[in-house]
Amino acid sequence: MSEPAGDAKLEVKQASKEVKESENVAEKYSAMTVSKNSEMNMGELSTVFSAVPTHKPVKKQIQFVEDKQEFSRFPTKTGRRSLSRSISQSSTDSYSSAASYTDSSDDETSPRDKTQVNTKGSSDFCVKNIKQAEFGRREIEIAEQDMSALISLRKRAQSEKPLAGAKIVGCTHITAQTAVLIETLVALGAQCRWTACNIYSTQNEVAAALSETGVAVFAWKGESEDDFWWCIDRCVNTEGWQPNMILDDGGDLTHWMYKKYPNVFKKIRGIVEESVTGVHRLYQLSKAGKLCVPAMNVNDSVTKQKFDNLYCCRESILDGLKRTTDVMFGGKQVVVCGYGEVGKGCCAALKALGAIVYVTEIDPICALQACMDGFRVVKLNEVIRQVDVIITCTGNKNVVTRDQLDRMKNGSIVCNMGHSNTEIDVASLRTPELTWERVRSQVDHVIWPDGKRVILLAEGRLLNLSCSTVPTFVLSITATTQALALIELYNAPEGRYKQDVYLLPKKMDEYVASLHLATFDAHLTELSDEQAKYLGLNKNGPFKPNYYRY
Ligand code: NAD
Repeated sequence: MSEPAGDAKLEVKQASKEVKESENVAEKYSAMTVSKNSEMNMGELSTVFSAVPTHKPVKKQIQFVEDKQEFSRFPTKTGRRSLSRSISQSSTDSYSSAASYTDSSDDETSPRDKTQVNTKGSSDFCVKNIKQAEFGRREIEIAEQDMSALISLRKRAQSEKPLAGAKIVGCTHITAQTAVLIETLVALGAQCRWTACNIYSTQNEVAAALSETGVAVFAWKGESEDDFWWCIDRCVNTEGWQPNMILDDGGDLTHWMYKKYPNVFKKIRGIVEESVTGVHRLYQLSKAGKLCVPAMNVNDSVTKQKFDNLYCCRESILDGLKRTTDVMFGGKQVVVCGYGEVGKGCCAALKALGAIVYVTEIDPICALQACMDGFRVVKLNEVIRQVDVIITCTGNKNVVTRDQLDRMKNGSIVCNMGHSNTEIDVASLRTPELTWERVRSQVDHVIWPDGKRVILLAEGRLLNLSCSTVPTFVLSITATTQALALIELYNAPEGRYKQDVYLLPKKMDEYVASLHLATFDAHLTELSDEQAKYLGLNKNGPFKPNYYRY
């Protein structure tokens, strides 16, 4: 066991991105076949990945600031220790109110202080209440209904067991949808230990259902910071079991292993990372020459960015606003800051309900897109006094300042769909002259001395993840991508992947998309030989060059 690791604080200073892929990648994948009904056997996956494009790291300056933390050896349920490592932003900035359907508020005992055993006699897990397993099973079954592509992948690969021998340690939101992914990995032969990437997001009943079936889950809704790291450590550090794959969302697990268990980390065959933050951490390690394991950047795959960011937000923005405020959108004046993927989704949903939508942008291309889509592009100051709702979607900081909040009208709503909790200057509202009134879960009225109230949602954290649920189908797309990335990294012959961060090949994005088309009974048109020749394409894809923007 290594000595206690130092901590890292993440500071994203710049967000320009440059990802280059090899130009002849389409040619390299031309041997790959995806038939019109999306059939692909698992052996073919290796072919798909056999020529993974190279890339330039995302150019974000990230600083790991070492600071002391006191995590000592072998944490136990009774022997608590305090962790001075500050909990990462990603572990607190999403999901809280909507995550769990069970109410366990009557049981204040920490799961760490309970001894629980599942019906098979195992106590290798730590969840809120194992007795909720049956209820959790129903939640998983409901999620399965809208994740048919992932289930079909499970069925197709089940006999081949492409993950036999894989020992996957995972750190993600523990929801019914994630459970479908975890159970897919198990069906494909993997052993899994799992922990939560967010202290609020765990569906307790789902964690119980997974633990009942033998997945070692260490997570519950409402963990403390200390619990958070304890759970991660219990996942990784167990007698007679050493992980060889990581599935991470946010990079906390990866970082913990890298720092605390360097010898185990070195033997990992591959990391699959989903989040913006986690991917930045990986690129940072790579840039510093410290990444000793190949990693797959799922965040920047087309099937994540163009679906999760756009459609997930289009579907959930109204839900989050309705659940918290009961607002009617018809005729309301709304300003959406940022017209990227998230902003486009929000604007489309608001427009459909009859809201008058304004957009703010810094980028002339996105501004022009907004204009052509029928939105007025304005400066926030031009409309600040008249709008009923402000929604930030920029990935930036201080997009709405105290000065602007001062000028908003009585009863207006302000919320964030973009990055963490930095877009609205919430800290500037915590001054003595303003009164905060918590009126509902995740809803604060901030009251000015003259009686004006501004409704702040989720304290400026992500509205949809904090105040509503997100659509299962979109999560299926991401989960399928994650499963395929794990299969490929685990099965790749030595040398295929270096100690670097890789993007998923377009062929794989196309395959994930094609798997999901069946849900819609969508019928793809096939290229004729003549057409394929004319366009210079292989009839089976990839159908677009890597620089295509969709
Ligand atoms: P994006 O880069 O496509 O869009 C952001 C847009 O904001 C860009 O067009 C940029 O020009 C603009 N912008 C930046 N600063 C601005 C400012 N001060 N004023 C006005 N516009 C400004 O990114 P995206 O995919 O739309 O994601 C945006 C954020 O949302 C990211 O932080 C991402 O992590 C987050 N996100 C949230 C969810 C969710 O479920 N809520 C899902 C995916 C991504």
